[in-house]
Amino acid sequence: MSGSALAPKKKYDGIREHRPETYNDYGAGSRFLEEGFRKKCLKNADRSFAQGLQCQQINSINALQSIEDSVFISHSPQGCVGCAALGTMQYRIGQAHRGIRGNRTPKVIVTNLDQKDIILGGEKKLREAVHAAEDRYHPKLIFVFTSCASGIIGDDIDMILDELQDEINARLVPIHCEGFKSKVCGSGFDAAFIAIGKYLLDKEKRPTQKGLINLFAPVSISYKDQLEIERMLNQIGITCNYIPFYSSLDKIQNITAAEASTAVCKVFADEFMKQLYEDYGIPYSHTVMPIGMRNTDKWLRGVAKIFHKEAEVEAVIASEHKRIEPEVEKIRARLEGKRVFICGGTGRSFAAAALIDDYGMKLIGLETPTYDIDAQTDIEYLNGIHGNFVVDIANMQPFEQVNLLNRLKPDVFIGVPEWAAKLGLPTTHVLDMKRPTFGYDGLLYLGNKIADQLENPGFNKKLASHSKLPYKASWYETDPFKFIDNSVWKD
Ligand code: SF4
Repeated sequence: MSGSALAPKKKYDGIREHRPETYNDYGAGSRFLEEGFRKKCLKNADRSFAQGLQCQQINSINALQSIEDSVFISHSPQGCVGCAALGTMQYRIGQAHRGIRGNRTPKVIVTNLDQKDIILGGEKKLREAVHAAEDRYHPKLIFVFTSCASGIIGDDIDMILDELQDEINARLVPIHCEGFKSKVCGSGFDAAFIAIGKYLLDKEKRPTQKGLINLFAPVSISYKDQLEIERMLNQIGITCNYIPFYSSLDKIQNITAAEASTAVCKVFADEFMKQLYEDYGIPYSHTVMPIGMRNTDKWLRGVAKIFHKEAEVEAVIASEHKRIEPEVEKIRARLEGKRVFICGGTGRSFAAAALIDDYGMKLIGLETPTYDIDAQTDIEYLNGIHGNFVVDIANMQPFEQVNLLNRLKPDVFIGVPEWAAKLGLPTTHVLDMKRPTFGYDGLLYLGNKIADQLENPGFNKKLASHSKLPYKASWYETDPFKFIDNSVWKD
């Protein structure tokens, strides 16, 4: 898809719900969903009961955590940075896999807003934290993340940082990611990119470097996936400037020197790529996550098109198919006909749903945090190959997931495994962080991984026999979407 096709009418405010036709609470059959979306008659429902959501603040922090010479200040109570441990783990493992000596831990400071600050304001603590960051670490960048608490008390972060900038050598970058602002956790990525565009890019475009692409990726991408992306793109003469993944101030400022942009995920940097097109004329490819044969082909073709390398990429795709097809056949023999339930972020869950078709597996249920025009494009394709299946549009909400799993009884669950494993189902996931998932090599790895899990279900069976989920038997008999207004799925 080219930049011009998606050019927005007005500047995006960073809240995904504000984009037209974006839905984040729904339960329906996939055919109903496709048709309802097409006829513009879906209503954004709400849950009358909901368990905790993933907060957008943590996505803002995680997106930036691997940038060199940076300190991350969360202007929040202490609990808000609990999930920063996940990004820290991803970053430390990622460095080890890349052979980086002197493994670093991201420098995260929390201002620890408490009850007194909620009444009197947290400005003093924020000023102290910024000075502490500068004195302790002498960074090039200090990112300051807002939170629900700082938003509620109305601390004017922009003004405070503006004033402090005269006293501080590091560039100060406010990120407006108050958790309550959006129920779609992908908005957290947008907040980070809006700040990069506003505070770190020069207004003038740098001279274009031939063959350079901005490759937008979060820190969760494994080193094996990075190598696979590079291997595929290098074959058509393209090199990558990774942003913000293992990036630096210099690499960020070099964004405007790229010939084009793309991302490894549909909901990562999509709005930012549109902005780069509008502000600097950098075209972009926004297609799918390169997981599975169909998606990898589509992703590669999208990138090749903006570099006018359509013929070269067809030769690469043909040669890759020839190389892996005998292996795919062997794996298919182990997986064909198995029924699958998938739960994941929007990009990965839809990509995994396409991947299982490579192995002749059948999708029976899909849980995804949001639904929009991009998801509709995927659902049209998936309905064509899998027929009707259940779609739960949910940011988290494990109570709905266990109900669905209990009644659908899939042969395998793909996603964060905790709840499904305790039901004794074979589980695996496609967000590995340590091993390959992308491209042609990733397809083989994932296929073998799913098959191994199916053939060795003993651990989850034992786990289930020793676990009790916290729901009454009556919940499993109830409509899983009982708490969503306007839900329409019936089994
Ligand atoms: S920013 Fe808000 S939603 Fe996010 S962790 Fe803090 S209190 Fe919770």
